Amino acid sequence: MAESKRKSGPPAGGEKPSLGVTGGGAPLSDLLSRERLDSLSALQLIDLIVSKLPPRHSALLDMVYLRERIAELEETNDQARQAVEKLDAIVEKLRSPALRVGTFLMPLENNRGLACVGGQDYVCQIDPQIPVASLQVGQRLLCNEAFAVVMALGFDRNGPVVHVDELLSDGRLRIGQESGLMPLVVQRSALLMKEKLKAGMEVRLDANQRVALEVLGIGKRIDRSLERVEELPWSRIGGQDQAVQAIRDTIELPFLHRDLFKRFEHNVPKGFLLYGPPGCGKTLLGKATAYNLRRQVKTQSGVDHPEFFLHVKGPEILNMWVGESERQVRDLFAQCRERAAEGALAFLFIDEAESILGTRRAGRYHSMLSTLVPMFCTEMDGIEPLQNVVVILASNRADLIDPAILRPGRIDRKIRVRRPDQVGAQAIYEIYLRDSLPLAEPRPVLAQVVTEAHYRHGPENEFLEIVYRSGRKEFLYRGDLASGAVIAAVVERAKSLAIKRAIETKLETQITRDDLLQALELEHAENEVFPTTDLTEDWLKLTDFDPDNVIRLGPVRPRKAEPAGNGII
Ligand code: ADP
Repeated sequence: MAESKRKSGPPAGGEKPSLGVTGGGAPLSDLLSRERLDSLSALQLIDLIVSKLPPRHSALLDMVYLRERIAELEETNDQARQAVEKLDAIVEKLRSPALRVGTFLMPLENNRGLACVGGQDYVCQIDPQIPVASLQVGQRLLCNEAFAVVMALGFDRNGPVVHVDELLSDGRLRIGQESGLMPLVVQRSALLMKEKLKAGMEVRLDANQRVALEVLGIGKRIDRSLERVEELPWSRIGGQDQAVQAIRDTIELPFLHRDLFKRFEHNVPKGFLLYGPPGCGKTLLGKATAYNLRRQVKTQSGVDHPEFFLHVKGPEILNMWVGESERQVRDLFAQCRERAAEGALAFLFIDEAESILGTRRAGRYHSMLSTLVPMFCTEMDGIEPLQNVVVILASNRADLIDPAILRPGRIDRKIRVRRPDQVGAQAIYEIYLRDSLPLAEPRPVLAQVVTEAHYRHGPENEFLEIVYRSGRKEFLYRGDLASGAVIAAVVERAKSLAIKRAIETKLETQITRDDLLQALELEHAENEVFPTTDLTEDWLKLTDFDPDNVIRLGPVRPRKAEPAGNGII
């Protein structure tokens, strides 16, 4: 191998090995030192040997042939060596550690720059071939093992999306506390230096979360949920006397007698939770609270506060964007505070509150809830009592709401909204059977007839069958699942029956007891208030039964049956 590496041509030292033809038959080792011989290539040795041979010696031709073969071999060896050297270089390259990608933060003196690599800041040397002035804030850099910048890349195309909370006077941006992160202050990239930014805008940060790179959108406020509260005196709500009284004690008294409450240093709640089965008036009670409080304050103090009622459904707030739900919750509180500061009595009504304020242990949105609940608590803690902001939560599953929400100083009043009993139901029927309607009989009589039919414990009213773990069976009657929503719907159906009759007969018609009784049947046969499935879980949600004790709970008769003859199933 040592020999094959030696090139043909003159031996080292430049001079040709001169032996003189007189060398005759003496071996090479007699003519040259061993070292000298070792330094010669195979071709040079052959040349030497040939030079020793007498002219026209018979071996000369063979030697020429041998020389050619050796020259070929040397050529092949040479090519193989070059290939191996190339491969060695590739292996060496692949073995070298990956280069780090960093974000350029600012240029420094002496051809250095400040860069953030893997979340840490470094003062990096910059390859002299890269002009420092060409580097832009926010641009990505390649750094070698010594954290020297060896190449400049473009701007990151990915990165977290956040909302701008505040513009600082020097142009930096305060980023909100999103997805459980601490609030951050970031600088603008070269791309955003001249951009007109506003609080609430969505921006994308670099992977190191140090620089805002791009404006993605203008943050939306959930103001579509702003509702006008219609005229809703307490008398428009039937069968909820206890709940109404509790609300009035909780909210009206402190607002109307502020001085007394202050003097006695009595705890004033910032809101309350309405819980109970669906359709029983939780939303109605929330709106009535807003309407009546505003009216009472006006009567008592003469101040007519502008109206502000934000109505949001919990699931609407849940958003796939990381941090977006949190931002919306903060924004809801911010809107209320802003409006209260302008003189309004602001109400934040969150329906289906368990979906966003549920216990943190369970649920699909586990990770999101774990940040929404503490954020909601912080916002609640930030409201001063009697600051003219009232938070009302409504839920069918109060047991799922995180206890942290219901601590004193937050939503510490829980008000139960029950299904109406027979007396309550009659009151609700009377509310909807208004005197102004064409009624065939006096209002209380009609209301009483239909309520009795609704609440009778007869086979015609057997609505749900419960099978207990013990094997015992029991029925739930229609009255047991009555709600204000069902009652309102029964009266609406009775109205349409009377209208149809008026169209068919072309006669003056009125709402009769038959209309109401038929409407009651139809409502239970075709209603949309109850679950359309026979699944026990769906029905359990409507009742107070302990799921552990019940094996089956479902409708007694096949539901959605064709109405027969008179429309009765
Ligand atoms: P929830 O919020 O408890 O699910 P809602 O307040 O939305 O129920 O009630 C739905 C509708 O049913 C109301 O708009 C109203 O027409 C009627 N309703 C429910 N409860 C009552 C009630 N106690 N008095 C009068 N109407 C009621």
